[in-house]
Amino acid sequence: MTAGDEMIDAQTDSISEIVFGTGSLAEPIEIASRIWWVGALMEGDPFQCHVYLIEQGDQSVLIDPGSVLLFPEVLRKIEQVIPFNHIRYFICQHQDPDITGVLPRMDELVCREDAVVVSHWRINALLKHYALRLPLLCIEANDWELRVGNRLLRFVFTPYLHSPGAFCTFDTDSGTLFSSDLFGGFTETTQLFAKDTTVLEGIRAFHEHYMPSREILLHGLLKLEQLPVRLIAPQHGSILGEKLISFVFSRLKELDCGIFLMTRTHTDVQRLVELNKLLRQSMERMVLSRDFSEVVRGLLDSVAPIMPVRSLVFFGSLGGQVVRLGPETHYRGAVVAQPPAEYRAFLNLDGEGWRGSLTPILLLSTLKRVGELESAVVSELVIPLFSPERHQVNAVAVLGLASSAGPDAETQHILEQLGVPLGVAVERELIFHAMNQERERFYQISTRDQLTGLYTRFYMRDAVIRLCDLHDRNHQSGLAVAAFDIDHFKRINDTFGHPEGDVVLKRVAKVLLENVRSEDVPVRMGGEEFIVFLIGDDRPGMVGLTERILERVRQLVFTGAMVGERVTISCGIAFRQVQEPLDLAIQRADLALYEAKNHGRDRVCVARSIVDQG
Ligand code: GH3
Ligand code: MG
Ligand code: MG
Repeated sequence: MTAGDEMIDAQTDSISEIVFGTGSLAEPIEIASRIWWVGALMEGDPFQCHVYLIEQGDQSVLIDPGSVLLFPEVLRKIEQVIPFNHIRYFICQHQDPDITGVLPRMDELVCREDAVVVSHWRINALLKHYALRLPLLCIEANDWELRVGNRLLRFVFTPYLHSPGAFCTFDTDSGTLFSSDLFGGFTETTQLFAKDTTVLEGIRAFHEHYMPSREILLHGLLKLEQLPVRLIAPQHGSILGEKLISFVFSRLKELDCGIFLMTRTHTDVQRLVELNKLLRQSMERMVLSRDFSEVVRGLLDSVAPIMPVRSLVFFGSLGGQVVRLGPETHYRGAVVAQPPAEYRAFLNLDGEGWRGSLTPILLLSTLKRVGELESAVVSELVIPLFSPERHQVNAVAVLGLASSAGPDAETQHILEQLGVPLGVAVERELIFHAMNQERERFYQISTRDQLTGLYTRFYMRDAVIRLCDLHDRNHQSGLAVAAFDIDHFKRINDTFGHPEGDVVLKRVAKVLLENVRSEDVPVRMGGEEFIVFLIGDDRPGMVGLTERILERVRQLVFTGAMVGERVTISCGIAFRQVQEPLDLAIQRADLALYEAKNHGRDRVCVARSIVDQG
């Protein structure tokens, strides 16, 4: 059993035999398989710097060589495990003297050619001033990993925690995280292995003083949290066993440290905290929400504490069109025929064009009314949203403000940063909009006749069967079938050609579309034959409508080859009787149309009822 296992047991039993000051610390301690603590106790030192040795034959690794003050003791312990010359790698996770002060002494002792100091370039740049003979190896040049025998060490960059080049080392084999300053603690009565959650007190105090800010600490912790860590071996304080790991992670993630400690007296920093919180919340929402209106709601909530926002609309460019995303459509796209010129000018500008003169700008506009909320809008802030790959302004967000004061530099900076994920969210919405338009177009193609824009015979079946059902249930609703046919259309084609014939078809169809109500169903049955299904039971009114249509067609004025020509149409109208099959009603309308043709064309004939037809 390793001491690591013992420690975990100790946590459950609340007994810790292995503490500093007991006899056992005079020897190296194997904290995980072939991983040794080879540190030394120093009377009255709150840091108690730990040195760790990974025993790997003649490829062994020393992690954070240590302080000059402890050198003889550390060396003695190393030699109890392996000959000093078996160490090939000297990993320095930062450059403080408690960690690297001993390097020049070790440098003199090393007598193998292939030994190296392993660190980040920011640290190596400082270590070179020791004028070592040992070469310096940069972890980033080595793909952030080191293979020693069958062990893989992975390096995790944790910048500014607490040195600019700080990193941690993870032994994938044992799950041991050599965490450098992170998870370290001040110690009074030091325990090498943490007994229980009380260890947090020392860790908290150390992090408050040595870690620069909550955000930076969080950044490092989130990276480390991805690893399957089973043991944390820090430089200071106590080694943490598996049972304490998630507890300590969660507490440190919300710890105020470094610059944030000043917020109690320093309001600028407090404001920075607010702004950072806003940024984090908004980013999260933009990434997590699939519904764009939810993204907008979140954004408005987040921005409200720092700016008097009354409205928010977006204008995006999409294949030559300008699409508006605003509250009136619940932030679904709607094409705008006349986009306001002041926004249109921004769209498709490249990054240079925008930044040249137009960093998020304030437009003063008291007249504009963008939505219902904004009676109180006195100015507008336009934020450019760049498309990720095209490097140009893909859309703009227009914030309506209740004040004419522009944002301060910090708020402006936050808005610029928000622009990045917001740009992605808007672009995603514009793509959805384009797909919907396309789908709509295909639907139109299948339901509408391409030449005239009237419904197709195919679509008519479904739609009119439903109207018949309605009529059968509610006798008052009524349904009329008005069949139209262009008079002597063959002659028009023969005289002026097919293209002119098409023009006539389109013009007649337009008359039909313009004169029926939206619930009526105008259909091109084929060739120059049309049927309009009229809803209602006002029979004289319907006959009047068909006569009006004939009159409008008579009045059509043609140009070009057909200048001066008159076109007429004939109509037969049948009023559907309850339970009458649709085809029968159409047949009666056709018969009435035939009658109209026979009686000289350009007229309306009303079909006889089924009873009359006998
Ligand atoms: P009537 O007054 O008795 O209705 O005589 P008409 O010449 O209009 O009747 P007919 O049914 O003999 O002629 C219909 C013509 O419509 C014949 C056909 O070539 C033409 N036609 C059918 N579909 C189209 C089309 O899509 N475009 C054009 N230009 N002509 C078409
Ligand atoms: Mg015909
Ligand atoms: Mg005809």
